[in-house]
Amino acid sequence: MPRRCPDPACGGEVVRPEGEAMSYCVNPSCPAQAFRWLTHFVGRGAMDIEGLGEQWAAVLLERGLVKDPADVFFLTREQLLELERMGPVLADKIVANIEAAKKRPLSRLLFALGIRHVGSEIADTLANEFGSLDAIAGAGREALEGVPAVGPKIAERVYGYFRGERQRRVIEKLRRAGVRMEQERAAPTEGPLAGQTFVVTGTLASMARSEAEARLKALGASIGNSVTKKTTCLVVGEGPGSKLQKAQEYGTKLMDEQELLRLLESTK
Ligand SMILES: [Zn+2]
Repeated sequence: MPRRCPDPACGGEVVRPEGEAMSYCVNPSCPAQAFRWLTHFVGRGAMDIEGLGEQWAAVLLERGLVKDPADVFFLTREQLLELERMGPVLADKIVANIEAAKKRPLSRLLFALGIRHVGSEIADTLANEFGSLDAIAGAGREALEGVPAVGPKIAERVYGYFRGERQRRVIEKLRRAGVRMEQERAAPTEGPLAGQTFVVTGTLASMARSEAEARLKALGASIGNSVTKKTTCLVVGEGPGSKLQKAQEYGTKLMDEQELLRLLESTK
């Protein structure tokens, strides 16, 4: 028998995706999930709307004033004042904080959306790499996978998220509300290998793969997890896997360990 959502008002089926530690209720209008999503969205590290704590989040959902996080940006002072125990001082404060939240950096918005496996660090990386929510939403699996620290699992989540009907509606609402969806790209890193993306595969005899990656990074290179069309060079150690095959398909430049050592020496 399938497990059921613990929320008595929901009763949706609970599934645990393969390889994941947590279970999720599949009902898109699950009240417990809506509450979790909303409190995450307005919370610290996300849109950080002070004054809209768990209690008010619950009231807003219950009254139907908010159905998804984007609705927060359409709340009016009048609507808030109609709520029991909401005074004008708090209402003004919440309205001001909602207004301020529209200007949060893209990375915060991305984190606030609550995409599974996208913590604040990954959100930062994606925001810097793509520069706008539309660019992230429109990115293919391969482009996402090619971003340093984003593996196939996260890429799949991000890709799937932006193809969900409900998520698209939320994003359009956020846009209409005037929420900031773009970000200045971080200044390009400097160094002799700046602008180049390296991927290291297989075992190296003289150093751990992580050390090779750190040394390349120190010279300004970006490190990718998988070979994409944007990969500049694949460093091939002993026993390379499918990455070598992919690099050959794309005609990516290959480098063996001796060549890598020479490169690291010459660019010191
Ligand atoms: Zn549920």
